[in-house]
Amino acid sequence: MTPGLMQTTPLMISGILTYAAQAHGAREIVSKLIDEPIHRYDYAGLGRRSAQLAHTLERLGVKPGDRVTSLAWNTHRHLELFYAVPGIGAVLHTANPRLFDEQIVYTINHAESSILFFDRSFATLVERIAPQLTTVRTLIMLSAEDYETLIAREPETYPWPSFDENAGAFLCYTSGTTGDPKGVLYSHRAVVLHAMAGGLNSAFGFTAFDVVMPCSSLYHATAWGLPFSAPICGAKLVLPADRMDGASLHELIQSEGVTFTGGVPTIWTMYLDWLEKTGQRPDTLKRVVIGGSAVPRAMAEAFKRLYGVQTLQIWGMTETCPIGVVATPTPALAALGEEAMDEAIWTRQGRLQFGIELRVETEDGTEAPWDGETSGALLVRGPWVVRRYFRKDADAARADGWFDTGDIATLDANGFMRITDRQKDVIKSGGEWISSIDLENVAAGCPGVKIAAVVGVPHPKWEERPLLVIEAHEGAAVCKADVLDYLAPRIVKWWTPDDVVFAAVPLTATGKIDKKVLREAWRTHLTS
Ligand code: ADP
Repeated sequence: MTPGLMQTTPLMISGILTYAAQAHGAREIVSKLIDEPIHRYDYAGLGRRSAQLAHTLERLGVKPGDRVTSLAWNTHRHLELFYAVPGIGAVLHTANPRLFDEQIVYTINHAESSILFFDRSFATLVERIAPQLTTVRTLIMLSAEDYETLIAREPETYPWPSFDENAGAFLCYTSGTTGDPKGVLYSHRAVVLHAMAGGLNSAFGFTAFDVVMPCSSLYHATAWGLPFSAPICGAKLVLPADRMDGASLHELIQSEGVTFTGGVPTIWTMYLDWLEKTGQRPDTLKRVVIGGSAVPRAMAEAFKRLYGVQTLQIWGMTETCPIGVVATPTPALAALGEEAMDEAIWTRQGRLQFGIELRVETEDGTEAPWDGETSGALLVRGPWVVRRYFRKDADAARADGWFDTGDIATLDANGFMRITDRQKDVIKSGGEWISSIDLENVAAGCPGVKIAAVVGVPHPKWEERPLLVIEAHEGAAVCKADVLDYLAPRIVKWWTPDDVVFAAVPLTATGKIDKKVLREAWRTHLTS
């Protein structure tokens, strides 16, 4: 090989900040806050305040490689931590406040964090867990009194250092639905490449005219990298803090001219419901990216038909930074006509993106054909896929790089991937598999249904059979017969749930249906 003769400038997160401050300095960042008025500044301001925070961190004794934890919502102060902490070579552990206390404590201790920054709304939580935190020596509230006073007198410039792009930048824990949460340590290189890929037209397709409002949490896999993709593309950023209810989101969309937003399906169920009830319309919104759980077809359809908003489904996980695939159109699909194209896109998790390789493996370990039919274990590989969990001895990925996602999927000739289930959620009925996600998708379209959850429960004859748990919209008069009538023409007969029950559907810390809890609660429903 002849060595290339180009520069080897490392990919640094601080490079995004420096670029945005220079190229899009006056582009706004608008942030809601907890018990404080809305805050406005711009990328130049983010540059100045991140510099002040970097000096503060140094003054507090934070060294390269040290871990710092945040317990915070989507605000500009949290965004400053996103740049200043990795910027000085330290690692930001974004704790998930929706985990149980013990799990939050576990992740902070496991991260061996020295400083904990927290929003005012977590003051009681922090007070409760503080005695159990073994490595934290400084607690700082992200408030006008504490945080602002700390950074106020520091210089507004900072000589952001260059170092190995493979250094750790963010420490994100999986939600630990099975066992202890596992830490995924994102490198600068992974975050920057992932952010560049996210901005591409084949993915989110941002321009400098976009106004991006992340409703995915900054503490959950860096809100899909939006805090980095948006500044790279010069888009305005709108941060909603913890206000994810329909009225609050709508107010921000209208007043700030939001063109692009994203979050888990539960948020959009609430928002669509609110729009329907109030008769309001999101005037500027063009695209909404939805992922984390399967997007019900009815949701994508409602956004398009009622409000002219395009839905982009994404699939990903904490272990993939998190973007894996994004559902965006291609000429080949467009040639089939709008309806066929919508169908293809709405019923799949997304399309192969440059940077993430996909492989579906059947049980004998061979690669499944890309025929849209053959399902198997979904494996991924690439520069923003986990190699090894934090503080574990063995690699999580195989020697050849493939990482088993725990999902079951198909791939088709157009490069579209469809998740049929998680390995642990698949329903095994008489030796055949039933996709809980497909059933949920169909049931979610039944009028009156807010959330549809399907779990396999033990059955005396068939080993397992599907049970459909419905959480209805408030005041909706939907009953079991309505649901079964709705399903009948839309699914194969043997998939018909053995029972339909009405109950609140429990969600996990990352907004997914908590199947473990449901399975346990209804375990004997078909046997007793
Ligand atoms: P958790 O810690 O809850 O597992 P992650 O966000 O890492 O949090 O979860 C990743 C998992 O979420 C994926 O492996 C997949 O099962 C599920 N998931 C994410 N996006 C989608 C989607 N669009 N459709 C179906 N499942 C999805």
